[in-house]
Amino acid sequence: MGYFSDIVRGVKTTLIGLGLTAKEMVQPGHIVTIEYPKKSIPVPDTGRYRLHNHFDDCIGCNQCANACPVSCIEIVSFKRLDKDVETVKETQKKRLWVEKFDIDMSKCMFCGLCTWPCPTECLTMTKVYDYSAYDFRDHIYQFSNHTPEQIAEKKAELEAWNAEQAAKKAAAAAAAAAKPAPPADPAGGKA
Ligand code: SF4
Ligand code: SF4
Repeated sequence: MGYFSDIVRGVKTTLIGLGLTAKEMVQPGHIVTIEYPKKSIPVPDTGRYRLHNHFDDCIGCNQCANACPVSCIEIVSFKRLDKDVETVKETQKKRLWVEKFDIDMSKCMFCGLCTWPCPTECLTMTKVYDYSAYDFRDHIYQFSNHTPEQIAEKKAELEAWNAEQAAKKAAAAAAAAAKPAPPADPAGGKA
């Protein structure tokens, strides 16, 4: 490219850009600029922005985390005892205590793949797009609403239950071992 042809190209592209701007300015109803954040452009209902977990309906199944291509969902859970199993959305059972359900939105690429397999539809993409922060750690959203005291209590109950089951198993094995052996067959097993 020569010197003058570069200048011609620069002027041409500038005029094209100015033409587009002028076209937008004269069209009624078209937004040229707005006083953000005082005003904002409405986002579509199908938009994929910040994730939200309606935690009360989350069963901790991990399907969302398994579907995430960048591993930004972290779930830590442990078994609920039968007395604590709850039903959500009429058919889904909460069989786990979810002590941690974190989503690192600084890693999220807004693909929405995590929302599709959710059996209770508690994980959704919201219209919230303005959540800038000074510290990237503020982009880790924590959804578990269990208190540390509640988690500690439930873990202790589970440990006690496990110990009880192990003791029962050991007692059954000991009883089976103490049982006298059946008398030997005098025919040596022949008919
Ligand atoms: S939207 Fe995509 S990247 Fe973001 S958490 Fe869900 S699966 Fe992961
Ligand atoms: S898929 Fe839904 S129910 Fe299962 S852990 Fe994720 S958010 Fe919870």
